[in-house]
Amino acid sequence: MGASPSGVDLWRGGIVPYEINPDLANIDSIHQAIVHFEEQTNLRFVGRLNQDDYIRFSKQTRGNSNSEVGRQGGRQYVNASLNAVGVLVHELGHAVGMMHEHQRDDRDDWMIFHEDRVTDEAEQYEVEDTGARTARYDFQSVMHYHAGDPANPIFESRSGMPAPADIGGHGTLTVTDKTLLEAIYPAAPVIRRSDGEGGAGEVLHTSAIAVPGVNNTAVVVNAIRNGSKKYQLVLWRVYDTGVVVRMPDPLGSTGGKATAVTCTAVGSGLVSAMRDADGELYLISHGDAFQRLADSADQAGEVGDHHLLMLSANRVLSVCVSGSGRLLSIVWEIQSNGEIVRRFDSGTNGPAAASVSSVVVESTAGSQLVAILYRAPSRLVLSTWKVDGSSITFVADSKQSMGAGDLAHVIAAPTGHVVVVCRDASDRLLLIPFDITRNGAAVTRISGADGHAGVIREIAPVARPYGLLTSVISEGGHVLLIKWRVEDNGQIVRLGESGTQAGEGSNLSVAALPFASKVTVCTVVRNGSGDLLPITWDDVDGPGELTVV
Ligand SMILES: [Zn+2]
Repeated sequence: MGASPSGVDLWRGGIVPYEINPDLANIDSIHQAIVHFEEQTNLRFVGRLNQDDYIRFSKQTRGNSNSEVGRQGGRQYVNASLNAVGVLVHELGHAVGMMHEHQRDDRDDWMIFHEDRVTDEAEQYEVEDTGARTARYDFQSVMHYHAGDPANPIFESRSGMPAPADIGGHGTLTVTDKTLLEAIYPAAPVIRRSDGEGGAGEVLHTSAIAVPGVNNTAVVVNAIRNGSKKYQLVLWRVYDTGVVVRMPDPLGSTGGKATAVTCTAVGSGLVSAMRDADGELYLISHGDAFQRLADSADQAGEVGDHHLLMLSANRVLSVCVSGSGRLLSIVWEIQSNGEIVRRFDSGTNGPAAASVSSVVVESTAGSQLVAILYRAPSRLVLSTWKVDGSSITFVADSKQSMGAGDLAHVIAAPTGHVVVVCRDASDRLLLIPFDITRNGAAVTRISGADGHAGVIREIAPVARPYGLLTSVISEGGHVLLIKWRVEDNGQIVRLGESGTQAGEGSNLSVAALPFASKVTVCTVVRNGSGDLLPITWDDVDGPGELTVV
């Protein structure tokens, strides 16, 4: 049926790491049982990397197939002695938190139990304290035992339906089984696919974008501050299976000393921006083979934090904290030969700001509405700006509607809402949705619609078809991906997450991959050894690591 006992521990994020004893003769049946769960529920089974809690399919010398109920902590066995796929589905049902339907604490409302006819394993028929369960009792649940001899059945339905011969599961999840699993595992999690073997050497800071590659591949471009504190461009080819392979460094891929490196795609190439050794903003353009084309020389002055935003096929916006601590935005034109020309800026009298982020809210042929988030002395402020062919002008801002926060980013959700992603005053992840009117004239916080999560050290968000994905470094120093749905009214709802699939890391960036495949996003982290490491993930709805044939 659909019932789970009280106090059962579930699998974090709906992700079940597993191992299979390679000596088992029925590995195909185990795979079929896993595929059944992945096709019918939000649960995902992943080959164990180093997760502490996992199941191991084993063959035990005594007894039939069996399994503990729910996550036990550490290694737990699913005894896969019997070969039938339906039996394995039943045992996996236990492992993910399902109890026997006929042990529900309300079962006597639905059936007559002939205790005297039980000859074996009487404890498998005792009523248990039920936590979560579906409304209706399900005589055909994959978790329901058969009634035995129809002439002397162990179970009889009080209504007479079904007949004793028809009581008992058929080895597949029923509608009510699925209803329970949907209730306790409500969303598909984020599945780790693969990573760039060996990493790419020491890194101090990274920024990533992804662009289409040849033959249904993508190229993840990392603009980094390498171990020598210098600018470097590192490229990875991502195959649609999720495999990540480092590509040769392009011509002119290294530069001088740099901090705060960021990059964005522009036209058929990309532009990166950094603070150079003198603390000045410095841009480099790269062509369609990522070769270095040109730089901005000394056209920009001293900056603090900065953010680079693509406006159109030949324009980028640098949103900066100026040398005097004020918000300053500069529009640059990238000419066809890669030359970088400063066009105009927002002026020297911007508001006091300590850090910045930006996103395009609306784009037409000749102009863009841009949302710029900055950290003012006592609060975060979200502002709107109109960019046209010759000017960038302030439109409106969020006034006093946000408190203090840091690590702040702004994302445009598919619903049209703009979401501020930050770390709040208690160091917790906070997502704040805003309504921005069409011309940008009103920037309104949607009350009571925030998303919240635990204590974090770093954040990298990315817009996704369902809302947004936040890649964070948790309090314990682990990489964690969390999915958030943005509803039509702006309400932010936490969906699945990546659980414990990624190791330790810091200084992460995240890029959405520009193709439809088994991999959908790529995080790039500085791993526990200080090396640059890309990891690919499926955050949409793909199955785990098994191929469904
Ligand atoms: Zn059982």
